[in-house]
Amino acid sequence: MPTFVRTEKCDGCKGQDRTACMYICPHDLMKLDKDGSETGHAMKSYNQEPEQCWECYSCVKICPQQAIECRHYADVVPMGASVQPLRGSDSIIWNIKFRNGNMKRFKFPIRTTPEGSIEPYEGKPEIDLANISAPGNFTIDPAKLPGDRSELIRL
Ligand code: SF4
Ligand code: SF4
Repeated sequence: MPTFVRTEKCDGCKGQDRTACMYICPHDLMKLDKDGSETGHAMKSYNQEPEQCWECYSCVKICPQQAIECRHYADVVPMGASVQPLRGSDSIIWNIKFRNGNMKRFKFPIRTTPEGSIEPYEGKPEIDLANISAPGNFTIDPAKLPGDRSELIRL
């Protein structure tokens, strides 16, 4: 289920050049329509290629306005079902509305450390660019490859 933006909720991340949904999308699908020339809705974001959506829901979860929803399958949409998460700093609540009107809410913890506190390179050695081509440093030593490489690449 790809995502779509509810224009009445989106505030364009208050005019920032790079909105939260643009920042988070791993496939670069979210786009801010600054002047409304592309969608008819100025300063609103939209999913420019829903068929390319990974359905990771990162944009759904990060949107501060809860303006992004999952686009449900065609047999469910007209019947009023919806999926809407509310992300907090340490948990996320999924609001599931079934097509018969029933609501279910699921709350999950999403982290055990404060936001922004993780140091991904902590304890790792400093990168020495002089060794960038050395075997084992993001490259493979050709001499250690099995077989005859000339047989692998045929032009
Ligand atoms: S993150 Fe939400 S409010 Fe911000 S531009 Fe995207 S859809 Fe709009
Ligand atoms: S669900 Fe994921 S891939 Fe699809 S638009 Fe949102 S962030 Fe991008």
